[in-house]
Formats: sequence, structure tokens, C-alpha cells
Amino acid sequence: MKVNEIFYSLQGEGVFTGTAAIFVRLAGCNLHCDFCDTKHEDYTIFTEEEIVKAISDYPAKHVVITGGEPTLQLTHSLVDRLHEVGKFVQIETNGSIALDTDLEWSIDWITCSPKTIPVKIQRMKSKSFIRDKIWNRMKKSPQLMSVFVACNLVMSMMR
Ligand code: SF4
Repeated sequence: MKVNEIFYSLQGEGVFTGTAAIFVRLAGCNLHCDFCDTKHEDYTIFTEEEIVKAISDYPAKHVVITGGEPTLQLTHSLVDRLHEVGKFVQIETNGSIALDTDLEWSIDWITCSPKTIPVKIQRMKSKSFIRDKIWNRMKKSPQLMSVFVACNLVMSMMR
């Protein structure tokens, strides 16, 4: 696989904001956005074993496979290998490439950031899973909690 970089950081966006994660940035994309900051031509070829080994250098359970467009290269066997070593697998996709159904269901979390009209993603985590995730994040952040309380107050006054 063409790997642009593997690094350890905090997830900076979405439901998992603040979660320690190992990022695997795969090189290459089927789109050509003007604002793209990925160096698609700058990569090293890794086998799946080498990716899993590189990931094992870091303590996080959460793995984010990003790009570029990860679905151009992602395989079911890599996701399986990551699960075998106890990882939670998230991908960040532009949503323009349909995933094989088995592969799609094997991924723990799909974040779609569309740059064109996305193809249909077949599934979504249950509402209760998302609600619990958001609630847990809010409990850790007094600022988020006050925004939530203020929004609920305004909503109740508008009813
Ligand atoms: S979809 Fe993302 S990775 Fe692909 S060209 Fe656009 S910004 Fe870059």
C-alpha cells in the first residue's frame, strides 16, 4: 500500500474528537480538490504486516485510516489484521467510491467528508451509540455542556 505517513495524535474532529489515535495516511486520491494539502506523490510502499507493525509502536486502540482517499487501497484483510490486534478502525473518506459490502461492514466507523455527491453508505451506527458518544464528550467538557443546556433552553422557549 502507498503510505504517506503514520503518526500518533489526537483526533481533531467529529464524534471522536480528543481521542488518542494512530493515523495511517494513504497516498493518492480520485479527486483533485484545489485546497488539498496531501502530498500524494510522497509515499512509501508498506505491506499490511508492516502497517500493523508500525501501528503497534503506539499505545492507542483507535486507528484512523485517512488519505488521500483510503478506499482506493483499503482491504478487508488489513481491517481484519487490525481487529486481531485489538484496534478500532475508523476511516475518513470523500464518499465517492462505493465500498464492497463486506469491507464496509468490517469497518467500525466511517466518516464521510463529501467533495462531490457521495455514493450511498449502507449503514449507520445506532442513534443510541451516537447519543452516548456525544453525551460522554459533553460530560468531559463544561463548555460543550453549557452550549447544550443553552440550546435546550432556547428550544423549549420556542415551543
Ligand atoms: S478528496 Fe480529500 S484527499 Fe482527495 S483531493 Fe480532495 S481534499 Fe485531497
